[in-house]
Amino acid sequence: MKNKVEILVKGLKEELIELSEFIYHNPELGYKEFKSCKAHVDILKKHGFHVEENFLGIDTAFRAEYKGEKEGPTIAYLSEYDALPEIGHGCGHNLLGTVSTGSGIILSKLVDKVGGKVVVLGTPAEETSGAKVIMTDKGAFNDVDVALIAHPADQYYKSGSSKALEPIQFTFRGKSAHASATPEQGINALDAVILTFNAINALREHIKPSAKIHGIIKRGGEAANIVPDLAIAQFYVRAATKNYLNELSEKVKKCAKGASLATGTKLKIEKYELGYDNLITNNNLQGTFIKNLNKVGIKNINEPLFSSGSTDVGNVSQVCPAIHPSFGICEEGKTFPAHTIEFAEATLTDIAYYNMAKTISALVLTGVDIITDKELLNKIKEEHKLAIAVS
Ligand SMILES: [Zn+2]
Ligand SMILES: [Zn+2]
Repeated sequence: MKNKVEILVKGLKEELIELSEFIYHNPELGYKEFKSCKAHVDILKKHGFHVEENFLGIDTAFRAEYKGEKEGPTIAYLSEYDALPEIGHGCGHNLLGTVSTGSGIILSKLVDKVGGKVVVLGTPAEETSGAKVIMTDKGAFNDVDVALIAHPADQYYKSGSSKALEPIQFTFRGKSAHASATPEQGINALDAVILTFNAINALREHIKPSAKIHGIIKRGGEAANIVPDLAIAQFYVRAATKNYLNELSEKVKKCAKGASLATGTKLKIEKYELGYDNLITNNNLQGTFIKNLNKVGIKNINEPLFSSGSTDVGNVSQVCPAIHPSFGICEEGKTFPAHTIEFAEATLTDIAYYNMAKTISALVLTGVDIITDKELLNKIKEEHKLAIAVS
C-alpha cells in the first residue's frame, strides 16, 4: 500500500504545487477566501468529488465527498486557506489546505477498493473567527469518524494541545460632564475600565499558571476635559480546559461587575468573537500517523510545540477524534517562526514540497489503516470518549 500511495502522490504533485502557489499569489483574509476556496473546489470536482459549496451558509466554506463502493468509516481532511493582513500566507495555509485536499484526492482513489468515505472540508478564517466553530456547532462533524489536519512549521512536531479561549467585551456606560467645571455630575466609564484591569491584575496572582488573561482598551474617551461616558475593553481569557475556562471567565466578569458597581456605570458583557475549545489530541490516532510518517521515511519528529495559542480545530477535537500535528518546511535543525514573510516564502521551496508529499502519504496511509482496521478505530473512539469525559 505504501508504494501505491507514494506513486499516486507523485502523480498529483505538480497539480498540488500549482494549487498551493495560486493561493500563495492570491492571499485572501478570513471569510473573503473566494479565489482560494474556488481553487480547492475545482480540483476536488475534477477528481470526482461531489462538492457542496457555500456549506452551511458560509460563503467560502465547502464540503467535498467521495464515497467508495463499500461501506466504511468516514475520514475527514480539514483544509484552511485564509491569509494574514500585510504578510499574506505567513502561516502557510496555502500549503496546509493543499496537503488536506491532496490527501483527500489520493484516498478517494483507494476507497473503491478498501471502502469508506472521504470528506474534505473547506474551513475558512482560522486566523480570526474560525469557521470550524460554527461548522462543529451545526453538526458538520457528527458523521465523521476521524478528522485530520497537518500544519506547516519549521520542523516536524507531534500533535499537542491548544488553549480554550473566550473573547469577552465589557462596555461601560456612564454620563459625560465637563471634567473640571462640573465633574460631580459625571459618571466616568473609563474609571470602570481601569478598575476592571486592576481587579483582573489582582486575580492574575491566583489563577492556574497555564491560564492567560490579556486585554486592550478599545475606547477610553474623546477628550481630557470631558468625563468619558463610554468605555470599552476587550479581553481574551485562555485556559487548558473548557471547564477551567468557564470558571475563570466568570471571575473575570465579576471584576467588571465590581467596577461597574464602584463607578455607577452600566455594564454590558458580550462575546465579541467566536470562542475556541481546547485541542484534545487522540494518541491512538497520533500513533498511527507517526508510524506512517516513519514508514515513508520521516523519522525526526519533535515533541509537540508548547502551545499558548488557540485553534478552532480544538472544537472539532471535542466532537470527533482528531490530530493537529506539524510538518517541516525548512532544512532539518533550522528553527523558523510562523506569521512572518520568510515563513510564507518557505512554503514555495523544494523542501516544503518534498515534505508536503511525505505528509500527504502518511495522512492517506492513516486513513487506509482506520478504514481497514476495525479494532484500531474502536480504540481511537474509546480513547476519545474517555478524554471528553475528563476534559
Ligand atoms: Zn496562524
Ligand atoms: Zn495557521
